[in-house]
Amino acid sequence: MKPYAENDIIDILNSDDLQVLQELLQSATKCRLENIGDKVYLRGLIEFSNYCDRNCFYCGLRKGNRQLKRYRLSKEEIVQTAMLAFNSGYHSICLQSGEIDSPLEIDFLVEVVEEIKELSQKADKDSKGLGITLSVGELSYHQYKRLWEAGAHRYLLRIETSVPQLFGRIHPPSQKFETRVECLRALKDIGYQTGTGVMIGLPGQTAEHLLQDLKFFQAEDVDMLGMGPYIPHRSAPLSKLSPEQQLDPYTTTLKMLALCRLLMPDINMVASTALQSINPQGLRMGLKAGANIVMPVLTPDDMRGNYYLYENKLYKKPQELVEEINSCGYTLGLWEWGDPLHYKRRIKVKVGDA
Ligand code: SAH
Ligand code: SF4
Repeated sequence: MKPYAENDIIDILNSDDLQVLQELLQSATKCRLENIGDKVYLRGLIEFSNYCDRNCFYCGLRKGNRQLKRYRLSKEEIVQTAMLAFNSGYHSICLQSGEIDSPLEIDFLVEVVEEIKELSQKADKDSKGLGITLSVGELSYHQYKRLWEAGAHRYLLRIETSVPQLFGRIHPPSQKFETRVECLRALKDIGYQTGTGVMIGLPGQTAEHLLQDLKFFQAEDVDMLGMGPYIPHRSAPLSKLSPEQQLDPYTTTLKMLALCRLLMPDINMVASTALQSINPQGLRMGLKAGANIVMPVLTPDDMRGNYYLYENKLYKKPQELVEEINSCGYTLGLWEWGDPLHYKRRIKVKVGDA
């Protein structure tokens, strides 16, 4: 497994030596600058609903959490937030929510995507309008297709862990590993720029499991990665479960980001909110590890607090994030979509093959 042997990867992931981490981050920075340059793209994140029909054992939005105040933004609120983002230079947004696959919910989302697309293309005739990423969980092929036809072109669906036994320990039996893999393949087949990712530092997760994750990302040939530390939520059953966390979630996330950048130099990779929440240096270090995407939260103030996936979820004003990115010496990629180079190459190969 280039550029590191599998044993080296296991050693790096298990190492407590700060020197090892420093060297890895330096290599990742070099690789990033050589392959995709110094741009950091912003994706305005609109968490439009926290209703969820699922019961993932780790997540604060799970259906079984009766303490959570539920909300859903109206179509007008979502479209207005998206257009505000567009007019201030974000040319990509991400619409995220809990998972509800009812026909009504999908009809609603299709309308939202169509309207955002139409309005943003009208607002700036020289541009392709807003790039729309969706992150609303496992849907059917047909539903993914409808959303694609409405104008969404990227999709994030984390595999959470590529190790089926571990997946089984953090999800109820009704949620199947195989279904998630099928969803990822369906998204790619339809044409989406496809993103996945894992949580890092899960109870019982080992370096060997993370090595398997790296191989999974390569085998599935993904365009984007969103990885972050697992952070317990007191109302989610995983927070009460032994075995303990064996890997330090913060440093191990940095190592995984760096390894992914080295193994997959041309993908887009997020410095996640969870990484920023777990350590004040999270954004800076995530960028150093090779991340090139940041997702400022644009969810309206009065709702934001209820999109509480894990404890102490951080909220930083978009302007603060922009200043931090600039102070780290990166260039902001505003007024453009910032598609992953990997996707452009993948599509070219596909066309060339035909
Ligand atoms: N419902 C959609 C999108 C919202 S959840 C979905 O599940 O795909 C988005 C991500 O939040 C999940 O993929 C998961 O990796 C992350 N998440 C949930 N609970 C978390 C926790 N306790 N710690 C860290 N990340 C968490
Ligand atoms: Fe719902 Fe997503 Fe949380 Fe699972 S991770 S409970 S699908 S919001």
